[in-house]
Amino acid sequence: MSECFLCKNETATLRESGYEWRIICPNCGKLVITDDLYSDIKAATGECFRLPLPEPDNGYRYLRVPVADLFFKARCVAAERKLKDQDEYILVYDYKKNELLPEVGNFYHIGIKEFLDSFPATHEVLDRALLNLGRLGSGIFGESIYIFETEVKKEIPSANINILYASNKNVAAKILINLKENNFIEVEEMNYQGSFFEWKFYISAKGWDRIAGLKNTADKYSEKAFIAMWFDVKHTRGIREALKKAILSSGYLPIVIDEVPHADFIMNRVINEINEARFVVADFTCINEDNKKDDKEDDKIKGGVRGGVYFEAGYARGQRKKVFHTCRKDSASEKRLHFDIKQINTLFWEPDGESIKDRDKFIDDLKQAIWAEVGKGPRLRK
Ligand SMILES: [Zn+2]
Repeated sequence: MSECFLCKNETATLRESGYEWRIICPNCGKLVITDDLYSDIKAATGECFRLPLPEPDNGYRYLRVPVADLFFKARCVAAERKLKDQDEYILVYDYKKNELLPEVGNFYHIGIKEFLDSFPATHEVLDRALLNLGRLGSGIFGESIYIFETEVKKEIPSANINILYASNKNVAAKILINLKENNFIEVEEMNYQGSFFEWKFYISAKGWDRIAGLKNTADKYSEKAFIAMWFDVKHTRGIREALKKAILSSGYLPIVIDEVPHADFIMNRVINEINEARFVVADFTCINEDNKKDDKEDDKIKGGVRGGVYFEAGYARGQRKKVFHTCRKDSASEKRLHFDIKQINTLFWEPDGESIKDRDKFIDDLKQAIWAEVGKGPRLRK
């Protein structure tokens, strides 16, 4: 038993293994953190944590994050991920995500900034807290659930205040009182005087109704935009950077599942990320590597149609999400655009060395299309 470095729970297991730390915590779930990030976070005792952010030229700049914010947000996000069965990940510095770090079992990499950015905006806290409460028990109507300040009781559906996005028990009490006054929860017992904090309640019919509604519209508040594309350093690096820039400048956060082959566990992550995304940008570029003129045997596999992109775009459309199409303007790519999607508006681009031709115009065109179809992103609104 040792102390969880995020939530300070003393019944966690913390183990050093090679260049990373493995943590199993009753609040935060299972995660791995790289040695460098772990020691930097442990050493962050001053007021600010200096978070290095990637720059296009492989360098980085620093973002200053208040240390209290870092721990508070991280333990809340970790608790929510555990409830959503989205734990089992490796926390890394964002600028190192593109390096081929070894995967540990089924664990995948999450950049620390991307991780912290999933903390809800102020107006979303109550809804996100209610959604978490809905995930806590078995979902059977009338089942009592418990919130304690620090501990989790294994034998009953319970959690600590982290799942409410509360920094302390006073805030936790305010959130629960708000949920109660909205008639989303029916309180059975509450005790939050002095040093004690324990709430026992169940989710009301109105609360479950609200949860169902939120699940249907959760992506409306999402700041994430999923990029479906062929990850190939040689051919798609320029467009990849341009797509990310267009999404960022339209006020959303680009999510790219990195250069990892689509194994089963990655597909789960893809599905999760698409579910949570506000929209998807799908690039249908496919390059015939060997410039074979018409090698029908080969062109569907080697540099051929990217099956993953079609799958992701199709899945997103089935989830009623807006999908923006882009494609490299060359006969190989255009020829392979499947007839089903040929009639859908596609934004074409042409390579230009490491970048793409008329990059600024392409970025602006895509941004305008996003604004026209889904509106400005939450990152542009205060
Ligand atoms: Zn923890």
